Amino acid sequence: MSNTKKTGKKNPGKDSVLVYIESQHGEIAQVSLELIGKAREMADKLSVTVTAVAIGSGLKKFAQQIFSYGCDTLYLLEDKRLAYYETIPYTKALVQAIGQIQPQIALFGATSIGRDIAPRVASTIKVGLTADCTSLEIGDHEDPRTKKTYQNILYQIRPAFGGNIIATIVSPEHRPQMATVREGVMKLGMPDKSRKGVIVPLKVKFAAKDFVNHVIKRVISQRKVNLTAAHIIVSGGAGVGSRENFKLIWDFAEAIGGVVGGSRAAVDNGFVDHDHQVGQTGTTVRPKLYIACGISGAIQHRAGMEHASKIIAINSDPNAPMLKIAHYGIVGDLNQVIPKMIKAYKSKG
Ligand SMILES: Cc1cc2nc3c(=O)[nH]c(=O)nc-3n(C[C@H](O)[C@H](O)[C@H](O)COP(=O)(O)OP(=O)(O)OC[C@H]3O[C@@H](n4cnc5c(N)ncnc54)[C@H](O)[C@@H]3O)c2cc1C
Repeated sequence: MSNTKKTGKKNPGKDSVLVYIESQHGEIAQVSLELIGKAREMADKLSVTVTAVAIGSGLKKFAQQIFSYGCDTLYLLEDKRLAYYETIPYTKALVQAIGQIQPQIALFGATSIGRDIAPRVASTIKVGLTADCTSLEIGDHEDPRTKKTYQNILYQIRPAFGGNIIATIVSPEHRPQMATVREGVMKLGMPDKSRKGVIVPLKVKFAAKDFVNHVIKRVISQRKVNLTAAHIIVSGGAGVGSRENFKLIWDFAEAIGGVVGGSRAAVDNGFVDHDHQVGQTGTTVRPKLYIACGISGAIQHRAGMEHASKIIAINSDPNAPMLKIAHYGIVGDLNQVIPKMIKAYKSKG
């Protein structure tokens, strides 16, 4: 590989911050690139390297892209039998990779694959795992029982007890400290195409019994809506009142070139499909503009949209929490406000 430098170290990954690289539909999953950026930030604080593990077939072509987001060493397992994700061989490969690399932190996307493989790896190597972290930080920790202080450990931060508290979870004694993070939670960094990295081929021994499944056909269903990539999201909540009235939200989104989102109450009431749900158990979004219509602003909803660059809230209740975090708030009935906003927008051409 031309854009590769040699480290000369026996194990360049020792104590690194490691990211498990996932590929989806022939591309590197955005969440993996977001996590490399976060790993870089933490590795710089810890004065260690960023490593990545990619398992599959035909992934070498993505090495430069992975380096450009901040990775130093890519551990690559190329095997045609691993072209598609399979629980048993992928888990085995990753367990062996982590054993060889010995990172101090290992991060995974909270995707369906990440949610399958990360707990299996954690239980095999007997370490803890915090799922769906909303923030990761490095800090010190004093064990209240033993008074022992642990320096520079991973704070795994996430909502707990139904989102009513924000918990900081630590695994001071075991390595690696493992966490999953959903797409959109960490900001995607700016790639630096001049960054160089090293590819280290991984060697993993498989047994025939590791490949127990015989895949006859693979059908990939496309996501109906891509909220993560949307610049403008018009979201409706329980306040919209009915699936029929949700047409207002669709019309508003169409008029301003946005994508339709919804609160969990809107989804549970059948106003809009689950693909559109924003929040802790939906999609995490970072649009330039988020318009919340008839959404109260419960913490679980805010967890998925509070990093939007600008938030507009339309709510009939002046005390709605959404109005407190919004950059612009309109107190009023959305049935009156939205048609006026569409009209005003259209009249400006
Ligand atoms: C573990 C867990 C996970 C969860 N995950 C999510 C999640 O991912 N996403 C999510 O959204 N929620 C989630 N929730 C649910 C969350 O707690 C709230 O119940 C939900 O967000 C409320 O949705 P809402 O704001 O649409 O409804 P409500 O809280 O009922 O609010 C409706 C709002 O509409 C306003 N309103 C009513 N009529 C009008 C009108 N005509 N014009 C203008 N405003 C009007 C009201 O003043 C009110 O503020 C989760 C809960 C739990 C426990």
